[in-house]
Amino acid sequence: MQQFIDSYDFTGKKAIVRVDFNVPLNENFEITDDTRIRRAMPTLRKVLEKGGSVIIMSHLGRPKKVDAKFSLKHIVDHVSACLGVPVKFADDCMKADEAAAALKPGEALLLENLRFYAEEEGKPRGLAEDASDDEKKAAKAAVKASQKEFVKKLASYADCYINDAFGTAHRAHASTALIADYFPDDKMFGYLMEGEIKAIDNVLKHAERPLTAIIGGSKVSSKLAVLKNLVGKVDNLIIGGGMGYTFIKAQGGKIGLSLHEDELIPDALEILKTAKEKGVNVSLSVQTVAGQKFENDTPQRIFDTHDIADDWEGMDAAPASLENWKKIILASKTILWNGPVGVFELPNFAKGTLQIAEDLAEATRNGAYTLVGGGDSVAAVTQMGYADKVSYVSTGGGAMLEAIEGKELPGVAAIRG
Ligand code: AMP
Repeated sequence: MQQFIDSYDFTGKKAIVRVDFNVPLNENFEITDDTRIRRAMPTLRKVLEKGGSVIIMSHLGRPKKVDAKFSLKHIVDHVSACLGVPVKFADDCMKADEAAAALKPGEALLLENLRFYAEEEGKPRGLAEDASDDEKKAAKAAVKASQKEFVKKLASYADCYINDAFGTAHRAHASTALIADYFPDDKMFGYLMEGEIKAIDNVLKHAERPLTAIIGGSKVSSKLAVLKNLVGKVDNLIIGGGMGYTFIKAQGGKIGLSLHEDELIPDALEILKTAKEKGVNVSLSVQTVAGQKFENDTPQRIFDTHDIADDWEGMDAAPASLENWKKIILASKTILWNGPVGVFELPNFAKGTLQIAEDLAEATRNGAYTLVGGGDSVAAVTQMGYADKVSYVSTGGGAMLEAIEGKELPGVAAIRG
């Protein structure tokens, strides 16, 4: 049975908490962005305040073996400073029995990087490149078998389990999903997870209508599942960014040198057909800011998006598109934004994306629910200073993308199930 942090009695209990402390470090092992650490603090603090202790577990980077470069020891001091208590460190996540047993209420222990063990991800390591299929199968079976012991060990440290790592919720790893089985009546989401799940539900399950999705970014291929899922759910589908040109080409438009994927034209046509059948309003770009080279200072020209000259490349949304989109956005009660509508990393082609961020902020002020998530639009709203002007900015790129593809996230299912 799923529990909730606010109603759970942590008095004298040890909570093992999966967080996402996969923070960027510079060459001196200093944290360059501690957002992920700060976002986990409300959950950790709550357990300590309510008389419990925490055993914190995370991965850092993608080590393939024990590797000091990816040690969580680099972040212990910072986690202690954020949490306001000295955090102890177990330098092997499989040998933390004593440290865990010694924890008193109000104390915290951080386990070393879970991914120092192949069992965390459950994928074999060190296989020869020319390994036969049988060898691969045997290696996979071996790691799956030892994964059970790994999970059991982690679970043995604690009385209850909290998952607050939304960034890895789309992975069925030992610490993100499998461990939940050991706590059938003592498993719960942390506040960050709860916030992310509510945000997704606000859009996909009980959205106030009209519901609009703005999908941008570079390629249709990376957002195909998102588009296919959303086209059955939304009232308006705004398709912008590089991926929009595949749709324009599918409709017979001339797109010059703009990014496009010919092999996805049938999919684009299928999405447009489904939208029509379901009465979904698809809004493509009508006007484009094009450049001659993929660089910031290249000369710019505005074209009708269906008629871009041969040697020009569409790189941003132009005013006529943005006006159409603004009208749709401001008439919506719920808006999901995924993917920039232009090459926003080049400041001269960031205006369209900035305008969308402004429109979302205005819609939010007017009472709409706005969620930004699953890719570069998060970087865009954050860089542009709009992160606190929308209703929710997701922390989980891949996890949010899979959620809006309509997939059930293993980390969520493990707690709910
Ligand atoms: P995604 O990760 O799929 O959300 O894609 C984000 C990337 O799409 C960013 O790096 C943008 O620069 C890129 N992008 C957006 N619009 C365009 C465009 N018109 N041409 C090329 N790349 C674009």
